[in-house]
Amino acid sequence: MIFVVSGPGGVGKGTIVSRLRERMPDLWVSRSWTTRARRPGEPATAYTFVDRDLFLAHAEQGGFLEWAELAANHELYGTPWPEAPPGVDVLLEIDLQGAAQVRERHPEAVVILVVAPSPDAQAARMRARGDSEEQVQARLALGLEEERAGRELADHVVVNDELDRAVEEVAGILSRSPRAPGDEAWPYSSRR
Ligand code: 5GP
Repeated sequence: MIFVVSGPGGVGKGTIVSRLRERMPDLWVSRSWTTRARRPGEPATAYTFVDRDLFLAHAEQGGFLEWAELAANHELYGTPWPEAPPGVDVLLEIDLQGAAQVRERHPEAVVILVVAPSPDAQAARMRARGDSEEQVQARLALGLEEERAGRELADHVVVNDELDRAVEEVAGILSRSPRAPGDEAWPYSSRR
């Protein structure tokens, strides 16, 4: 089963996914490629950091399950074809353009939209992690439109009002999602 945690920038998707990883060690969380620079203090394993030429060459070869250029920073982000063992659930933490691509290729994917309780809370979270004021304003402006589109796409909407509660809610969605017969179809590595 593919689970997609998506939502506007700065709503806390990454924090929720780190907490899920801790409590669900069997979950296979994809590591994305990105062209953006590593943030100060960010672990080297947060992404596969690459330059634009390498990213685009990989995209050209069909190396990504989905990829997108983010309007907020004009950087590229992509999910390499997951190499999870067969039968293991895969979790992607990606933006909404990517979520729409996954949904198109894998209609059975479960899309969870995470939203901030308010624009102020979202801005505070982005500032706390070191985003520039310019990035904060750009992402906030996009956020409302993204949330609207996300609500149309998503199977579940989770408000990140309180971290523990939100993590609990997402974990519940993951554990309750019914598997279709024969759904243990990983690896989906067939690069369709
Ligand atoms: P950040 O630069 O703050 O780490 O991430 C910015 C945005 O990119 C977040 O909304 C994150 O979910 C999204 N993102 C991370 N990896 C991917 C990916 O592989 N594909 C897509 N489409 N978005 C991604």
